[in-house]
This record gives sequence, structure tokens and C-alpha cells, in this order.
Amino acid sequence: MAIQILGSINIDLIASVAALPRPGETVLAHETVRLPGGKGANQAVAAARMGGSAAMLAAVGRDEAGGWMIGNLRAEGVDVSGVQALDEVATGTAFIAVDASAENQIIVAAGANARIEPRLLLPPAVDTRVLLAQLEVPVATILAFFTAAGAKGRCRLLNAAPALPEAAALFAETDILVVNQHELVHYLGRSHAPAGPEEALAARALLTAPDQVVVVTLGAGGAVAVRIDGHFHAPAVPVVPVDTIGAGDCFVGALAALLDEGRSVEAALPVANVAAALCTLARGAAPAMPRRAAVEAFLD
Ligand code: ATP
Repeated sequence: MAIQILGSINIDLIASVAALPRPGETVLAHETVRLPGGKGANQAVAAARMGGSAAMLAAVGRDEAGGWMIGNLRAEGVDVSGVQALDEVATGTAFIAVDASAENQIIVAAGANARIEPRLLLPPAVDTRVLLAQLEVPVATILAFFTAAGAKGRCRLLNAAPALPEAAALFAETDILVVNQHELVHYLGRSHAPAGPEEALAARALLTAPDQVVVVTLGAGGAVAVRIDGHFHAPAVPVVPVDTIGAGDCFVGALAALLDEGRSVEAALPVANVAAALCTLARGAAPAMPRRAAVEAFLD
């Protein structure tokens, strides 16, 4: 079986500074680093490291950063034949400044990610069971991706992140929706985050059809799958996180790989929680994604 992922590819340019600059101010960085990023790429790596056969549909610029990212993904075993290198646009870039207290400022330039049009989509391989998207590429392209797949009975998994008002138009074309607490509040139009699994049941309001599922991730509270007629809560694995960056992407990528194996959402959640917990024990996003063997070792 296989997973097709429509999503973003970014490079993260991270500058460590003593204090974040105020408007008009220039500060010196004491360290800079370039890391692979983008929700689509992170989730593809997470799925591949879980043993999934992951193929990306994405765009980069015809530049050095784009070539570097394609090389990174290929080295992770991700099929990059659907990644286009576009002219006259740069590879997506996140400019991140981090101060001594880990407070940050982030500017994201979508670059080529904003130029993924429906005509650039390749049909999924015949054995593709799961289609996965996030919201760092145009909503119209995700709609085309999901609409074509829905007719073929494939599982459409949408991680509706970052929160985007126009994303609600995708929910009727989605089989499994994954949101974190902040995104849930946004889509429900509420003012406060759910305090725990019981309050997350408000996610039921996002369901548009009886067989849909909303999965709400609750950080250290684990994750809850909400169906029209019931729910299932999988508590988080108790860990002392080093860095939670990428935990959400790890959870979604692992979930995609587990669904692709034919597991139910309820059977997949506890395993995705283990993968995401292990991700919090290492720094960075893609580099911190655990391999299947480490997840299985934890489960034994
Ligand atoms: P991030 O933005 O940090 O990548 P997120 O806000 O999208 O994450 P969360 O709900 O915070 O998503 O976390 C996703 C999953 O990661 C959780 O469902 C859980 O499985 C795991 N996780 C996150 N934080 C912890 C923690 N402190 N302890 C154990 N597991 C955690």
C-alpha cells in the first residue's frame, strides 16, 4: 500500500540571538543553522520512517535549497517524482529567530508552495490507500486532490494546520480530520481551548457525514478520535520532552502510515502517540522523527 502526500517543502533558517530584535533594530546572531522543514515534508519523513511507502506532491524553486530538500527527502526513502522544480520562484523558506528563553519570531515565505496548482498533481499509484494534505499549499489544489480521490474510495486525511478560515470548505471532502487544540478552537469559533478529551467532543460539530472522524491532538493529553456516535481517547505516553517541535507532524505522518497498513483510527492512535512522544525527545522536526523499530521497541 502507499501514501500520497500533497504538502509544503520549506527550509528553516534559524538564527539564535540573545534577544529578539524590536522594529527597526538589528541584532547579531551567535549561531545560524539550516534545517529541513515544511509540514508536508516533515509528515512525509515521519510516515516513511514508520515504514510507509510515501510519495510527495510538492513544489520547490529551481534553486540550491530546493535541490537540498529533494535530496533530503530521497535519502529518507520518500518518492519525490511528484516534486516539481519551478522557475522564477524560490523554495519555501521559514526565517526563524530564537532568543535565549526559546521565544521565537517566524516569517514564512511560501515561495513555490503557493504555486502548486491542480494541473501539477500526478495521479496516485494504484496501490495508494491514504491521501494526506495540510494547509501550507493552496486550498483549491487540496480540494482537487481530495475530490478526485474520494470517488475512488481512498482515505482522505486532512491535517487542517495552520488554522485557515477557508479550510472549512475541505471538510466535506475529508474522511479523517486532524486538528490540535488551537485549530479546534479556531474552526469551532470558540474562545478557549478544550481542557481535555470530554471538551474535545465539541469537535463533533465539524463532522459533515456519519462516517467521518475528527482526531483532536491534546499535547500531553494524548489524542481523541471523535465520531458522530462515540469517541475514543488514547492517553499520551509519559515523557519529559526536550523539544516538542514537529510532534504534531510526527503524529499525523505516523497516523497516515498506520492507516495505510489497514488499521482503524482507534487502533492507530496509541501507536501514533508513541511516535509523537519519541519525537519530543530529540531536537528539531524531521531529524527527530522516530523509526518504526524504536516505536515497536517502546510498545513491547
Ligand atoms: P507541535 O506544534 O508542537 O508540533 P501540535 O500543537 O500540532 O504540536 P500537540 O497536540 O501539541 O500538537 O501534540 C501532538 C501529539 O504529540 C500529541 O497528541 C501527543 O501524542 C504528542 N505529544 C505532544 N506533547 C507531548 C508531551 N508533553 N508528552 C507526550 N506526548 C506529547
